[in-house]
Amino acid sequence: MEKKRCIAMVPCPGQGHLIPFVEFGKTLVHHHNNLHLSFLIPTLGPPTPSIMAILNSLPPNIDFIILPHINIQDLPQNLHPGIHMKLTVTHSLPFLHHALTSLNTTTHLLALILDVFSADALPLAKQFNIPSYFFFTSGALTLSFCLSFPKLDDTVSSQFIDSTKIVNVPGSIIPFQVKDLVDLVLYERSSEIYKTYLGLCQQLYFVDGIIVNSFTDMEAEAIRVLQEKTTFLDGPSVYPVGPIIGTGSTSKEKQVECIEWLNKQPPKSVLYICFGSGGTITEDNLNEIAFGLELSGHKFVWVLRAPNNSASSSYLMGQMEDPLRYLPSGFLERTKEQGLVVPSWAPQIEILSHGSTGGFLSHCGWNSTLESVVHSVPMIAWPLFAEQRMNAIVLTDVLKVAVRAKVDDESSGIVKHEEIVRVIKIIMEGEEALQIRNRIKSLSDAALVALSEHGSSIRALHILAHKFQNI
Ligand code: UDP
Repeated sequence: MEKKRCIAMVPCPGQGHLIPFVEFGKTLVHHHNNLHLSFLIPTLGPPTPSIMAILNSLPPNIDFIILPHINIQDLPQNLHPGIHMKLTVTHSLPFLHHALTSLNTTTHLLALILDVFSADALPLAKQFNIPSYFFFTSGALTLSFCLSFPKLDDTVSSQFIDSTKIVNVPGSIIPFQVKDLVDLVLYERSSEIYKTYLGLCQQLYFVDGIIVNSFTDMEAEAIRVLQEKTTFLDGPSVYPVGPIIGTGSTSKEKQVECIEWLNKQPPKSVLYICFGSGGTITEDNLNEIAFGLELSGHKFVWVLRAPNNSASSSYLMGQMEDPLRYLPSGFLERTKEQGLVVPSWAPQIEILSHGSTGGFLSHCGWNSTLESVVHSVPMIAWPLFAEQRMNAIVLTDVLKVAVRAKVDDESSGIVKHEEIVRVIKIIMEGEEALQIRNRIKSLSDAALVALSEHGSSIRALHILAHKFQNI
């Protein structure tokens, strides 16, 4: 019997990485059902119920292996999430090798697709003599920055952050201040974090292709630059296949609570507030948001986490603490008709696609950004870490589908409640809200076209699938 034609995919820990990885896999086999996919999943600990629910609902031609989880004691303490993700994969390499060896005997292996933070697994592609690809879970502009970063680093003699204040990222119509770039470049050049990130960016040149979760109308210039091969002469082929977003939530209980509440609200009246899968804000800002929401009088659904001075503190490890106890005294009682506070996690896709949702206060993670665009929900941009500042600037200054909540004092990062009321009013009321809504609706329409049978993203997917099958 002919062996299954199989592609091995290696995501890295972090729901913001795993979710689009899985969705990409589902899209690929939906359009090319002669392919089989196998997710080989490095883990820090036992997978959470929400991850298990995602994996248990995969279609029959996708399977998964959860690799034995690594010993957390083997890793240094207080790591940056990016380094944590990368090291988890590094420590899982023997398990990965074992899993690939067994896949290689039972299937006809066609390719290895990795998350960028799984780049240490690249040599395995050589060992098994198969082509390698990255699935890039951020946008095309961030990819362009990552591809240009090794050259930029070469031009610098002191600290990257000091020596250059403004960076022209290929494919951006606006320059970026260094402080707004991917946060990993803001560390000292001699630090492990900086060197690791530089190493990951260098690895981008060593694969056969990069699949990026974006589409032409959203990032036309960046995609053009990435595909033309005049800027990145030795760069790999780039396949923009997005927007690929999740289809919906798995926690039925929370889904019912949120949707029943939204069903009772007027159309486009509710502001949804969420800082991604694990973003956290300070206690001061939590209080300012609470105060601002009350003052604005607008309806809201707020995904609440316990505050922390480090914005990415809950990104990989989750939270055990009850966040409700951090709300100002009497807040829940006073706002019981106005809003719904959901601890830790809410069914975001269902909320954004609900007719009562009219705005999204977001940390501008790339998945949240695409989900808001697809469902035409105007945004308030409140970036926290990673490449979120870059995303926020594109959303506010280039696409003009979001308003930035301005920090009052850079050192404390505080956003005052008056500012929160101001931005809520801009996206929820009046003429400007209407214009923003129209612009994001056009982008959403363009996303639908990109994903239609002859659209740019599905064409890119077909080219990619063809490459996989003709090795
Ligand atoms: N998400 C969700 N419910 C939540 C928080 C997050 O479903 O309460 C999902 C969200 O829909 C998105 C992902 O988690 O798909 C977050 O990814 P993003 O890139 O926006 O941010 P990250 O978690 O990587 O910071």
